Amino acid sequence: MERGISLERAISLVQKRKKELSAETIHLDDSHGRILAAPLVSKVNDPRFDNSAMDGWAVRKEDIPDGKKISLSIVGISKAGGNTPPPISSGEACKIMTGAPIPQGANAIVMVEDTEVHGKEVIISGFARENYIRTKGENISEGALILSKGHFMDAFSISLAATMGHDCIPVFRKPVVGIISTGDELIPPGSEINDWQIYESNSFGIADLVRKMGGIPIRYPTVVDSLDLLRESLNQAAENCDLIITSGGVSMGDFDIVRKIMELEGEINFWRIKMRPGGPPIFGNWKKTPIFGLPGNPVSSHLVFLMIVCPWFRASFQADENSKPSLGRKVHVKMLDKVKGAPEKLCLRRIKISNSEKGLIATTLTHQGSGNIHSMVAHNGVTLLPPDSDANIGEIIEAFWFD
Ligand code: AMP
Ligand code: MG
Repeated sequence: MERGISLERAISLVQKRKKELSAETIHLDDSHGRILAAPLVSKVNDPRFDNSAMDGWAVRKEDIPDGKKISLSIVGISKAGGNTPPPISSGEACKIMTGAPIPQGANAIVMVEDTEVHGKEVIISGFARENYIRTKGENISEGALILSKGHFMDAFSISLAATMGHDCIPVFRKPVVGIISTGDELIPPGSEINDWQIYESNSFGIADLVRKMGGIPIRYPTVVDSLDLLRESLNQAAENCDLIITSGGVSMGDFDIVRKIMELEGEINFWRIKMRPGGPPIFGNWKKTPIFGLPGNPVSSHLVFLMIVCPWFRASFQADENSKPSLGRKVHVKMLDKVKGAPEKLCLRRIKISNSEKGLIATTLTHQGSGNIHSMVAHNGVTLLPPDSDANIGEIIEAFWFD
């Protein structure tokens, strides 16, 4: 077991325990947010044939003296989805619509705005441009590998897959993630509440983060601080899930049962990270299923998810570098407030990042306690202040901007 490690070390240990996810084939309609499990090759050229980028007239460029008016005889019309248009010879023009095939013999397009029709003649008064022709395969060649394994499917990628002729695509199966909150004081929101109780909240936010990362969350009933009940819940989750996430009970207190049971009966890869907030997480195995023991303090549990659980998903999905799924990105911000770092720990102060003419700027607003989940809503990012360093007003520092 490693103790008190750096965030980088924690990430590399987590990535080693990634899940080998099988592939499934799904329809494009269902593919938003899914990750390709195999490369996608184009079934067609794009464009499929030379076609016009403008509504106008297909002509021979050599017939049009730049800047002078000229009259050409009309041979017909080319429309998108229509039959093969008539060919043109010298002195002729064919009316053409955007996306329609270029008639044989034509090599340039004149915009409709630069023309006037008089009976069977069209008067050209503007330029004939070759670059208004979109040539076959200029975007994508048939047989080319266009989207690689690990690609995140968003609206643009979905359109691109359809352009390439795919109605169904292979994606990684969604990992199933069991979420177990622990604590005698917790009751579900909506219930009658006693003086000594609090509403259980972490499992709801964590479930949403799991969904955002492309997993299927199962929220198990909250477990009171009992080793026997926790063991039962962990066994059930290990049977049904690819990953287990617990919340609470990982510190040094008498009732920190997740740490206790992991020490006694589990397998711990690491405990504690040099990070504030979010110092005490545990990572290891419960019956061969990877398990993250997140701290109970709401800010800590969510931030630990962002920092070390997110990389487990990305590794399992073989996600492209810097692509989604992700929960935010590293940026540089100019601090408008002074922020204090932490001795020997990476410091994640909540900050509000906004765009300004001079780049990204950041301020701090509310109370920063690790129990204050409101601070995660009032702000939209955190500092990544290196150990033993503060940031002064005007200083540019690294930060993590939530998506
Ligand atoms: P623990 O890590 O179990 O010592 O909990 C630390 C703090 O987080 C305590 O104030 C708990 O009441 C609170 N807490 C623990 N689990 C949850 C949860 N699931 N939802 C909201 N607060 C929690
Ligand atoms: Mg507790």
